[in-house]
Amino acid sequence: MNDCYFCNMIKKDRIDNLIIENDYAFATGENYFREGHCTVVVKKHIESISDIESDGYFSVFDLIKKVSKALEKKYECEKTYLLSIGDEVNHLHFHLIPKHKDKSSMGVYCFQKLVETEGKPEPSDSEKSLLVNQLKGYIQEL
Ligand SMILES: [Zn+2]
Repeated sequence: MNDCYFCNMIKKDRIDNLIIENDYAFATGENYFREGHCTVVVKKHIESISDIESDGYFSVFDLIKKVSKALEKKYECEKTYLLSIGDEVNHLHFHLIPKHKDKSSMGVYCFQKLVETEGKPEPSDSEKSLLVNQLKGYIQEL
Protein backbone atom coordinates (compact mmCIF):
# COMPACT_ATOMS: atom_id res chain seq x y z
CA MET A 1 0.00 0.00 0.00
CA ASN A 2 2.97 2.37 0.54
CA ASP A 3 3.62 2.46 -3.19
CA CYS A 4 0.00 3.13 -4.00
CA TYR A 5 -0.36 6.20 -6.21
CA PHE A 6 -3.67 7.28 -4.72
CA CYS A 7 -2.82 6.46 -1.09
CA ASN A 8 0.30 8.59 -1.42
CA MET A 9 -1.76 11.42 -2.90
CA ILE A 10 -4.23 11.19 0.00
CA LYS A 11 -1.41 10.92 2.57
CA LYS A 12 0.12 14.19 1.31
CA ASP A 13 -3.26 15.77 2.05
CA ARG A 14 -3.04 17.59 -1.24
CA ILE A 15 -5.08 16.27 -4.10
CA ASP A 16 -4.07 17.84 -7.39
CA ASN A 17 -6.83 19.06 -9.66
CA LEU A 18 -9.53 18.34 -7.09
CA ILE A 19 -13.05 18.94 -8.41
CA ILE A 20 -15.20 17.74 -5.52
CA GLU A 21 -14.95 15.40 -2.54
CA ASN A 22 -16.99 13.89 0.24
CA ASP A 23 -16.11 11.67 3.21
CA TYR A 24 -15.74 8.57 1.03
CA ALA A 25 -14.31 9.68 -2.32
CA PHE A 26 -12.94 12.52 -4.39
CA ALA A 27 -12.95 13.53 -8.04
CA THR A 28 -10.09 14.99 -10.06
CA GLY A 29 -9.86 16.37 -13.56
CA GLU A 30 -6.71 15.23 -15.27
CA ASN A 31 -7.41 14.97 -19.03
CA TYR A 32 -5.34 11.75 -18.99
CA PHE A 33 -6.47 10.04 -22.16
CA ARG A 34 -9.18 12.27 -23.61
CA GLU A 35 -10.14 15.88 -23.01
CA GLY A 36 -12.41 15.98 -19.97
CA HIS A 37 -11.22 12.64 -18.60
CA CYS A 38 -11.89 12.72 -14.86
CA THR A 39 -11.34 10.20 -12.11
CA VAL A 40 -13.44 9.43 -9.04
CA VAL A 41 -11.29 7.77 -6.37
CA VAL A 42 -12.39 6.00 -3.20
CA LYS A 43 -10.36 7.47 -0.31
CA LYS A 44 -9.84 4.16 1.47
CA HIS A 45 -7.46 1.67 -0.12
CA ILE A 46 -9.77 -0.98 -1.48
CA GLU A 47 -9.26 -2.79 -4.73
CA SER A 48 -12.63 -3.98 -5.97
CA ILE A 49 -16.12 -2.60 -6.38
CA SER A 50 -17.23 -5.49 -4.21
CA ASP A 51 -15.13 -4.04 -1.36
CA ILE A 52 -17.16 -0.81 -1.09
CA GLU A 53 -18.98 -0.68 2.23
CA SER A 54 -22.77 -0.57 2.00
CA ASP A 55 -22.88 3.05 3.12
CA GLY A 56 -20.19 4.05 0.61
CA TYR A 57 -22.01 3.35 -2.65
CA PHE A 58 -24.14 6.46 -2.51
CA SER A 59 -21.14 8.68 -1.78
CA VAL A 60 -19.16 7.27 -4.69
CA PHE A 61 -21.99 7.39 -7.19
CA ASP A 62 -23.08 10.83 -6.01
CA LEU A 63 -19.69 12.15 -7.16
CA ILE A 64 -19.85 10.14 -10.38
CA LYS A 65 -23.27 11.60 -11.16
CA LYS A 66 -22.24 15.18 -10.37
CA VAL A 67 -19.05 15.05 -12.42
CA SER A 68 -20.91 13.37 -15.29
CA LYS A 69 -23.50 16.14 -15.31
CA ALA A 70 -20.74 18.77 -15.27
CA LEU A 71 -18.94 17.06 -18.17
CA GLU A 72 -22.14 16.81 -20.17
CA LYS A 73 -22.74 20.51 -19.63
CA LYS A 74 -19.18 21.57 -20.49
CA TYR A 75 -18.82 19.49 -23.63
CA GLU A 76 -22.49 19.24 -24.62
CA CYS A 77 -21.82 15.53 -24.89
CA GLU A 78 -24.66 13.07 -24.80
CA LYS A 79 -23.19 11.05 -21.94
CA THR A 80 -20.04 10.00 -20.12
CA TYR A 81 -18.47 6.59 -20.09
CA LEU A 82 -17.72 4.98 -16.73
CA LEU A 83 -14.84 2.53 -16.45
CA SER A 84 -13.26 0.75 -13.53
CA ILE A 85 -10.12 -1.13 -14.47
CA GLY A 86 -7.37 -0.71 -11.87
CA ASP A 87 -4.85 -3.09 -13.40
CA GLU A 88 -1.93 -0.65 -13.02
CA VAL A 89 -3.14 1.37 -10.02
CA ASN A 90 -4.81 -1.23 -7.86
CA HIS A 91 -6.76 1.26 -5.73
CA LEU A 92 -10.44 1.47 -6.62
CA HIS A 93 -11.12 4.37 -8.95
CA PHE A 94 -13.53 5.13 -11.76
CA HIS A 95 -12.71 6.80 -15.04
CA LEU A 96 -15.28 9.24 -16.37
CA ILE A 97 -14.74 9.97 -20.03
CA PRO A 98 -17.01 12.26 -22.02
CA LYS A 99 -18.47 10.93 -25.26
CA HIS A 100 -17.54 13.86 -27.45
CA LYS A 101 -19.63 14.32 -30.58
CA ASP A 102 -16.59 14.20 -32.86
CA LYS A 103 -14.74 11.32 -31.19
CA SER A 104 -15.07 7.60 -31.67
CA SER A 105 -17.07 5.34 -29.40
CA MET A 106 -15.27 3.83 -26.41
CA GLY A 107 -16.99 0.56 -27.27
CA VAL A 108 -14.50 0.21 -30.11
CA TYR A 109 -11.62 0.30 -27.66
CA CYS A 110 -13.22 -1.80 -24.94
CA PHE A 111 -14.97 -4.55 -26.83
CA GLN A 112 -13.48 -4.64 -30.31
CA LYS A 113 -9.94 -4.92 -28.94
CA LEU A 114 -11.09 -7.64 -26.59
CA VAL A 115 -12.61 -9.57 -29.47
CA GLU A 116 -9.48 -9.08 -31.58
CA THR A 117 -7.30 -10.33 -28.75
CA GLU A 118 -9.40 -13.13 -27.30
CA GLY A 119 -11.97 -13.89 -29.96
CA LYS A 120 -15.69 -13.60 -29.45
CA PRO A 121 -17.24 -16.34 -27.37
CA GLU A 122 -20.44 -17.77 -28.73
CA PRO A 123 -22.11 -19.31 -25.70
CA SER A 124 -25.04 -21.62 -26.15
CA ASP A 125 -28.35 -20.93 -24.42
CA SER A 126 -27.54 -23.61 -21.86
CA GLU A 127 -24.16 -22.01 -21.10
CA LYS A 128 -25.85 -18.62 -20.61
CA SER A 129 -28.46 -20.22 -18.39
CA LEU A 130 -25.77 -21.98 -16.36
CA LEU A 131 -23.95 -18.66 -15.82
CA VAL A 132 -27.12 -16.87 -14.75
CA ASN A 133 -28.14 -19.61 -12.36
CA GLN A 134 -24.67 -19.82 -10.79
CA LEU A 135 -24.55 -16.05 -10.27
CA LYS A 136 -28.05 -16.07 -8.78
CA GLY A 137 -26.89 -18.76 -6.36
CA TYR A 138 -23.79 -16.80 -5.36
CA ILE A 139 -25.88 -13.67 -4.82
CA GLN A 140 -28.30 -15.57 -2.59
CA GLU A 141 -25.32 -16.65 -0.46
CA LEU A 142 -24.27 -13.02 0.14
ZN1 LIG B 1 -4.24 2.92 -2.25
